[in-house]
Amino acid sequence: METHGGVSFDTDEEAGLILDSLGEFLEREVAPVEEDLGDLLTNPRKGVDEDGNLDPAVVDAIEGIRRASAKAGFYAMNLPEDVGGSGVSNVTWYRAKRRVARDGSALAEYALAGPEGPKPLLLNAEGDQVDRYLEPTVRGEKSTAFALTEPGVGSDAPNMATTARRVGEKAGDGSGAVGGETGDDSGEGDDAEDDAEWILDGQKQWITNAPHADFVQVFARTTPAEETGRYGGITCFLVEDDEYEVGSLNNAVGLEGMQAELHFDELRLPPGRVLGTVDGAFYEAMNFLGLGRMELGATAVGRSRFLRERCEDYATEREAFGRPIGEFQQISSKIARGYARTEAADALGLRCAWELDRGGPAIEETSAFKWFATNAFWDVADDAVQVHGSTGVSEDAPFVDNLHLARVLRIVEGTDEIQLNTIARQRGIL
Ligand SMILES: Cc1cc2nc3c(=O)[nH]c(=O)nc-3n(C[C@H](O)[C@H](O)[C@H](O)COP(=O)(O)OP(=O)(O)OC[C@H]3O[C@@H](n4cnc5c(N)ncnc54)[C@H](O)[C@@H]3O)c2cc1C
Repeated sequence: METHGGVSFDTDEEAGLILDSLGEFLEREVAPVEEDLGDLLTNPRKGVDEDGNLDPAVVDAIEGIRRASAKAGFYAMNLPEDVGGSGVSNVTWYRAKRRVARDGSALAEYALAGPEGPKPLLLNAEGDQVDRYLEPTVRGEKSTAFALTEPGVGSDAPNMATTARRVGEKAGDGSGAVGGETGDDSGEGDDAEDDAEWILDGQKQWITNAPHADFVQVFARTTPAEETGRYGGITCFLVEDDEYEVGSLNNAVGLEGMQAELHFDELRLPPGRVLGTVDGAFYEAMNFLGLGRMELGATAVGRSRFLRERCEDYATEREAFGRPIGEFQQISSKIARGYARTEAADALGLRCAWELDRGGPAIEETSAFKWFATNAFWDVADDAVQVHGSTGVSEDAPFVDNLHLARVLRIVEGTDEIQLNTIARQRGIL
């Protein structure tokens, strides 16, 4: 492979083979399922009932794709081999994420682990947690959710109201615990964290895959921020689906049936449910913020390419005033602008993946990429609606749904404003 001054955008042979076989997998395993589901997938509203619940046939299809993809070695291929992944580089993972988004397909993105799948945080699983949660999730047999956001906090997540206390701890007893008396005293000390039972109390909302997950990773405050600092004092708990109550759906336009509230009402958790370090979960999760931003930006780049190709085809086929609409400069410049935005985003995405492979943390780079790629996607989707005229706003065409998705991507995993704050802070001006 040739490099020029140390920089290369080449795909190495192994990554090329992976991406080719991923493309074949999508054709062989995903396209026929989409064809079978037909009308249910024409737009996101058709796949849900009148209460917003996802059609069971769609839920089954997603699970089938997840399992088949895991079996074929794609689903969590970025995780290490010793837990069932393939340890592929972030550059390859980035390209794969971009690839599954590129066809604009309703189901292809479920072929690679997303919010319902194993994130590196789950690698903190120890002992029984490995068999019970981590490995079945890597195999696509179980799905999960990541529960941070609450009615009172989103961007300001460490300010969460959900609490957990060890059984036997009382509020204000000097132990550092938050919450009230449980009326039970197991006599556990500070060094018996793994064996402790915990009482979890609070509510989460907008949690992706909450209605379908087998278990949820729930963040709760376990020591007051005054004692640990803002990001300390937060612990992650593994909570199983028969232990919590799923509340109302939070239906985002374009992603119906996927997000919901979770309620934990003085829920007593058995021993062995702390994932990672007591009081250290927020720091542990922050280590993977860059990866999340990279993945989301890759989706935006893949979707932008899909829309751009649709625009290019339409601009040459559709005629007005006796010529293809692409010959009108106001149409061709929209397509050219989309090309420039998407390819600039992609170059930044590859750089982020490369930085993460070198050990990261690539904080401002991944924030810049997430912000730039999702805003590029928004602009490309808006122009795609316009280029297609009335077809652009048709219920059965993909353009407005992609516009909705772009809007959502500018909010999740850190809003536009939070990304720009992060860049400004890293540059020392905020
Ligand atoms: C489809 C979807 C899926 C989601 N999935 C999950 C999930 O799986 N798990 C999970 O935990 N959460 C999830 N969320 C929640 C998501 O992470 C939050 O919505 C997001 O973090 C923003 O929080 P918020 O909605 O409370 O907005 P807020 O934090 O209340 O922000 C409101 C507005 O104020 C701005 N703002 C806030 N603070 C600042 C600041 N310091 N400077 C400048 N502007 C600021 C924001 O940018 C935004 O524009 C999901 C949300 C959606 C829509």
